[in-house]
Amino acid sequence: MAELKYDKKSGRILFTKEMRRQYKILAPNMLPVHFKLFEKVLQRAGYDVEVLKNDSHRVVEEGLKHVHNDTCYPALLVIGQMIDALNSGKYDVNKTALMITQTGGGCRASNYIHLLRKALKSAGYEQVPVISVNLSGLESNPGFTVTPALVMQFVASLVYGDLLMLLNNQVKAYEVNVGESEALVDSWVDRLLEQFARGKGMLGEEFRANLRQIADEFDAIPVNRVPKVKVGVVGEIYVKYSPLANNHLEEFLASQDCEVMVPGLMGFVLFKVDNRLDDIRLYGGSSMKYKAVSVLKEFCTKMESAMLDALKDHPHFTAPSPYAHLRTLVNGVVGYGSKMGEGWLLTAEMLELCESGYENIVCTQPFGCLPNHINGKGMIGRIRKVSPNANITPIDYDPSATKVNQENRIKLMLAVARENLAERLAAEAAEATQAAKTADTAINDRAEVEIVADDRPSGDVIEVKVSLTPEKPSAKSGKKPEQV
Ligand code: SF4
Repeated sequence: MAELKYDKKSGRILFTKEMRRQYKILAPNMLPVHFKLFEKVLQRAGYDVEVLKNDSHRVVEEGLKHVHNDTCYPALLVIGQMIDALNSGKYDVNKTALMITQTGGGCRASNYIHLLRKALKSAGYEQVPVISVNLSGLESNPGFTVTPALVMQFVASLVYGDLLMLLNNQVKAYEVNVGESEALVDSWVDRLLEQFARGKGMLGEEFRANLRQIADEFDAIPVNRVPKVKVGVVGEIYVKYSPLANNHLEEFLASQDCEVMVPGLMGFVLFKVDNRLDDIRLYGGSSMKYKAVSVLKEFCTKMESAMLDALKDHPHFTAPSPYAHLRTLVNGVVGYGSKMGEGWLLTAEMLELCESGYENIVCTQPFGCLPNHINGKGMIGRIRKVSPNANITPIDYDPSATKVNQENRIKLMLAVARENLAERLAAEAAEATQAAKTADTAINDRAEVEIVADDRPSGDVIEVKVSLTPEKPSAKSGKKPEQV
C-alpha cells in the first residue's frame, strides 16, 4: 500500500504518482462499447483501469445500504457497483482506487463523489482514493492528469462508440442473419482496440477511414426492411444508457420487434461544453476560458462532422442531426438557461427524434430527478404542440420500481405506436392506389388501342398498337405536345 497523502484543504485522500504505478483503478460502466474503448485509452496513458461489469442485484443492495434511498438512482447504482466490486475479494483494497466523473454543472452529478467517499467510509474502505475526471477544475490529483492528448483520444473513442451504437440499432432490427450486426460491433471493437494499442486510428485520415469503413460494412449486412415501430430512448444520461439502470430497456424493445434509436453521447458532451460558453455569455467570466472552451467545442464539432460525413453515402441509415441543429430546435420551447442535468438537450433530443421518424419515445428518468422531470416529462405538452404525432411515455427508475411495471407502461405506448403505424401504412397504401388509378385513367383517356395481328384460331391478341393522344400544351410551360 502506498503512503496515504491528504489534500490540505478538503482532507480527502489524494491519488499520488506512486499509486499510479501500483494501483488498480475501478470505473463504473455506463455504455458498454464506448467504455471498452475509454478503458483502452486510459490503459495506454499508463493507468491500470478496469471498467466494472458486476450487475447483479447486490449492486442495488449495496447502493441502498450506503446511499440514502432518496438520492439519485444513478448515484446509488454507481456507488453500489463500486462497493460490490470492493467486497468481491477480487481486488486488493489497499491497492485499489476508484474513478468517477464530475460534470461540473450545478446538478448532483457533480456531487456523487462526496456521496461515494461517505459510502466508502461506512463500508470500511476509507483508505481507497477516489479520482475525479472533470474538465472544470473541481478536484485534481498528482497521479492523474487530463491532458489534451487524452481528451482527443476520448473524443475519438466516443465518436466510434456513437457510430457503432447507431448502426447496430438500425441494422439489428432488420438483419436477415440474426446476430450479424452485434458480431460486427464486437469485431470493430477488437480492431479499434488493436489499433489503439499501436497508437493508431484516433485522429486524422485513419480515424475518418475507419468511420467510412464501419458504415460500409454495416451497409453490406443483408437486411429485410419491413416497416417496424421505431422507438427513441432519451432521459437522464446514466439511466438512458446503462442496461443495469434501465433494466435492459433496449433488449426489451428489440423483443417487442421495434427499431431503437438512442441519441449518442456526443450531443451531451457538446451540450456540456457549450454550457460553459452560455455561462460566460449570460453571467460573464474570463475571456481566456471562453477561448479555450471554444477551441474544445470546435474540435468536438469537427469530430461529430466526421461521423456524419461517413454516413452521407448511406441513405438507408438515419443520421443523427448535428448538435447545432438540436440547439435551434428548442428555440421558443425552453430556454438555454435550463441546463441542470440533461437540461434543454433532453427536450431537443425528443424534438429531433420526432423530426426523424422516431416519434415513439421512452423518456427514462430517475425517480425524483428534478432537472429531467422539468425538461422531459414537463415538456411533453410543448413537444406535442410542435410535433402532434409525438407518442412519449415517461418511465421512472428507482430501486423500488419493478421491471414488470415499467415494461407494461412501455407496452401501452407501443400499442398506440402500432395503431399509428398501421394507420400510416394504410394511408400510404390508399394514396399509392389512388395515384395508380389516376395515372391509369389519364392514360386510358388518351389511349387508342388497335389490334394489328390476331391470326390464331383462339382469337388471342398477339400484337397490339397503342397510341397516346398528345397531352394538351401546358399553359404554364407553353410547350407543344409531344407526338406519340
Ligand atoms: S440529472 Fe437527475 S439523476 Fe442525474 S444527478 Fe441530476 S438530479 Fe441526479
